[in-house]
Amino acid sequence: MSAIKELEETLVCHKIKPTAMRLLVLEYLLDREAAVSLTDLYKAFVKSDRTTIYRTLKVFEENGMVHSIDDGTSVPKYALCEDGCKCDIERDLHLHFHCRICEKTKCLTSYKIPEIVLPPNHEAEEANLVVKGICPQCKIES
Ligand SMILES: [Zn+2]
Ligand SMILES: [Zn+2]
Repeated sequence: MSAIKELEETLVCHKIKPTAMRLLVLEYLLDREAAVSLTDLYKAFVKSDRTTIYRTLKVFEENGMVHSIDDGTSVPKYALCEDGCKCDIERDLHLHFHCRICEKTKCLTSYKIPEIVLPPNHEAEEANLVVKGICPQCKIES
């Protein structure tokens, strides 16, 4: 299976119609190890229309292919969801790590947050657990 075919399948799996822009953005996200902001995407695709990039990301988010992370920097970051994740608040709660030196935010997908129990009549819509500190790379360099 060619790389493009694989990208297309990922989109189709999430009920997203493959377009050239969507394939490019997906490829870009797959190459990143840190979560990206909209500004990162604009910089990566300077020749593309910003509205198209924004809509692409929103379609990915609405179809459960990416999730947004509020890392406290006031700039939302986006990361690809794990395979098979439906961005269900109860099932996909993993930790995020924000490094205060390189300012990268990463998904720690294998570090799940235990189920959060809320008082009766409280309906959760989103939760964000971001741990702040120094990442391994910055630790080595310091
Ligand atoms: Zn760092
Ligand atoms: Zn994440």
